Amino acid sequence: MPLYAYVCEKCGTEFEVFVSMSKKEAGWQPQCPRCGSAETRHVFKGAALIGRSAEAPPRGGCCSRR
Ligand SMILES: [Zn+2]
Repeated sequence: MPLYAYVCEKCGTEFEVFVSMSKKEAGWQPQCPRCGSAETRHVFKGAALIGRSAEAPPRGGCCSRR
């Protein structure tokens, strides 16, 4: 089961939970372990952000017009 990081919208607590694919596709939301709120948001960590920046090279370089 994949481990997902979530952040609570209410108190800002970050936590990680194991969520099965079927649960996630059904729109399941974990509860905050601190305040019990169900207003949690899935956050991507590390690798996802690095991969994204690598896919977006700077525009308007020296070779864009030739
Ligand atoms: Zn909370």
